[in-house]
Amino acid sequence: MGPDERISPSVLDEAEALLRRGDLDGALRVVQALPRSPLAAGQENAEAARSRQRLRLRAALQYRLLEAPGLSAAAREEVRLALALGTLFGIGVPHLVERVWPVLAEESYSFAALDAYAERLRQAEVGPLDRWLRGVANRLAGPERERTRAELLVHHAYFAVLHATELVEIERRLLGRPRQLAGVRVQSLRASGCPVCVWPDVTYTVDNLPELPILPAHPGCRCVYRPVALAD
Ligand SMILES: [Zn+2]
Repeated sequence: MGPDERISPSVLDEAEALLRRGDLDGALRVVQALPRSPLAAGQENAEAARSRQRLRLRAALQYRLLEAPGLSAAAREEVRLALALGTLFGIGVPHLVERVWPVLAEESYSFAALDAYAERLRQAEVGPLDRWLRGVANRLAGPERERTRAELLVHHAYFAVLHATELVEIERRLLGRPRQLAGVRVQSLRASGCPVCVWPDVTYTVDNLPELPILPAHPGCRCVYRPVALAD
């Protein structure tokens, strides 16, 4: 879903203005008022959806972008705002990049984790890359390098925010009474795996939760948490 398909620009502008003022609840109310909003009163689990969304907004607006030293304060603000709008309206990475590219194109920043990742993709033992990874590797080595760095920065930041808030929820279900989950596993998104991550065959439970890896593990990481249901 993209912002131009289902969300009217005026709704987006209104939420943006509220977020710029730090009015998270105001921005939530904008989304709540949309037709068929999962946050609207009367919808199943609306209260849980609202608290999850508030958590995501806060994580987005406070995301520090430590992976990219050198970014100006203004650029950081724009990226954070884009992440917040992304979580609020379910906007995908390509549209978010579209939004922040005019700002990031003017910036000069380092992104050492991406350099290491690009280096890794060039190594033969990584094996054949899937289409997305091939595109990333090729574009990082060509004239679209800056744009591709911006894409991977947004991708990394967005998934850091989403995974962090997901983790709060997983922990709550795992540690709560009554317990609602048996554990959580970490997995590559596809059978082709991740050229960097190799995950042990481990289910993280109450006992080893502190060892649960933090995702994304690197720029371009598409690994996911898989909650494990309680056996009945
Ligand atoms: Zn990974």
